[in-house]
Amino acid sequence: MNEHGTFCTIYRFAQECRGKMLASILCAIISVAGGLIPYWAVYRIILLFFEGTPSTGSILLWAGVAAAGYLIKLVFYGISTTLSHRSAYQILESLRLAMTRRLMEAPLGVVLGNTAGKLKNIIVDRVETIELPLAHMIPEGISNLLLPAAVLIYMVFLDWRMALASLLCVPLGAIVYTVMMRNYNSQYAAYMEASNHVNSVIVEYVEGIEVIKAFNQSTGSYEKFAKSVHSFKEFTLAWFRSTWKLMNLGGAILPSTLLGILPVGMLLYIDGSLTPAELTLCMILSLSIIAPVTWFTTAVNDWKSVEYAIHDANELLTLPVLPDTAEPAALSSYHVRLQDVCFRYNDRDGDVLHNINLDLPAGSFTALVGPSGGGKSTVARLIARFWDVGSGKIAISGIDIRQIPLAQLSELVSFVTQDNFLFNCSLLENIRLGKPSASNEEVYAAARAAQCEEFISRLDLGWATSAGEAGSKLSGGERQRVAIARAILKNAPIVILDEATAFTDPENEDKLQRSIAALTKGKTLLVIAHRLSTIKNADQIVLLDQGRIAASGTQEELLVNSPLYREMWNAHIGAKAWAANSGMKGGIVHV
Ligand code: ADP
Repeated sequence: MNEHGTFCTIYRFAQECRGKMLASILCAIISVAGGLIPYWAVYRIILLFFEGTPSTGSILLWAGVAAAGYLIKLVFYGISTTLSHRSAYQILESLRLAMTRRLMEAPLGVVLGNTAGKLKNIIVDRVETIELPLAHMIPEGISNLLLPAAVLIYMVFLDWRMALASLLCVPLGAIVYTVMMRNYNSQYAAYMEASNHVNSVIVEYVEGIEVIKAFNQSTGSYEKFAKSVHSFKEFTLAWFRSTWKLMNLGGAILPSTLLGILPVGMLLYIDGSLTPAELTLCMILSLSIIAPVTWFTTAVNDWKSVEYAIHDANELLTLPVLPDTAEPAALSSYHVRLQDVCFRYNDRDGDVLHNINLDLPAGSFTALVGPSGGGKSTVARLIARFWDVGSGKIAISGIDIRQIPLAQLSELVSFVTQDNFLFNCSLLENIRLGKPSASNEEVYAAARAAQCEEFISRLDLGWATSAGEAGSKLSGGERQRVAIARAILKNAPIVILDEATAFTDPENEDKLQRSIAALTKGKTLLVIAHRLSTIKNADQIVLLDQGRIAASGTQEELLVNSPLYREMWNAHIGAKAWAANSGMKGGIVHV
């Protein structure tokens, strides 16, 4: 992380509001100029007194000038902050839009690799933290820089020695702050780490509260939670303790501009090179630079938080992009072929798929089976192009899927998983997402085919029930049927189905099987199977073990040729028999 990178990122996103920012800067400069007028006017009034000719009229005149200057300062400062706030919000908006756009362009697998909590935290919360500093940086930064500069230049004209004297406290203060800040970067990094740790422990605690209670782990988990909150407090306090002495010393020295001005001014006055009026003016002016100088000490902290937020935002902004092509591919069939496909998620773990060769003829039914971690989901996700293969290729109708535009590919492939997401709109609209142009009748027909009608009519608001409301009232099987209805409506020629592992009752199971049959009729079908009994009729069963195809063929062939498959089948039959014997026909164990 570095300041240069932060600045460049902000600058990039500030492009479209450059006009507003320039106007904000201009207004801030006018405001500073206006703010100097009262000092000038007060000087004139003092001068009137020293010259012994003060008349009410002339005093009122200068008072009026002072008031006018003050008004200019206020009005233009107001305009400047308004403009800079607008710019800041615009920058925030473009940052957020760019991040969400990037999420759409990145490989789906990479996006899903981040938790929703983390993405929300960066896009909403972290980005929000830069609004305040960003909005205040321009007007305050400019006035706080320009005002002392103008005052100093003016003092140089009065007497350069006074200008130097007014700055006496700056190097002294700077030394103290430098000593205090010597570990600032590493301390701040440790602080952010501790704060992130507390955040993640809190999220874990809240999300896991169900499990914690069910397994009566509340004491232990609470202790872990309380400990991390406590150590965060200790860390923050220790940091504060180590700096407060120097912070207060710096805070006392830095604003003490009179420290230099008074003695030097007196000497110069005695010397005769400074008039009493000029000495008084210098004293007033030196007081005016106190606030700006101290502003910079807090600005350092603000900038640091901007730097961290931008660093997090950059993590999303630099996600890899899945290359897309514009030229639609002319496909003559929906035959899917994997050719020597190798794939790895990361270099640390190495390849998880090794030279996979697999044919899914158009309109056929292929089942992927094998031990957990064997690579079944990975194969399915690669066909839907969640990621690109490492080497080899995946082709539909002989055309590499990387040559097929992503929009066209998503029309071709339906990926139905156990946890297909229901959007927070009505059930009707949730299903319509499969084909946004579908009429209500088409949606109803798809829902009927997916066996959804019965339970939807049971809901108080029926089709208008929002998925959020319905979510808690629907069983896992019912939710999956809504997702299947959506896929039926989409009517993609290639269907990938991640079979659900557990259902609550046989009636649901039966309906689910019927809805799946409606979805997959005549399609090129790939099923990730967890229950071998549901895939007896597959055209081919492919056994994946440790990223390699261990065997493939029909059920009969595999029972003869593959000891691993035989073992799995026997375990499956055994479990079924056990479920039946223990009277759990409709129970939780459903194999
Ligand atoms: P299956 O579906 O057969 O259970 P997967 O395809 O999910 O197997 O996993 C294959 C291997 O890839 C496993 O070793 C798993 O740990 C690893 N893996 C799966 N998803 C990821 C991921 N997103 N990042 C890193 N490794 C992963």
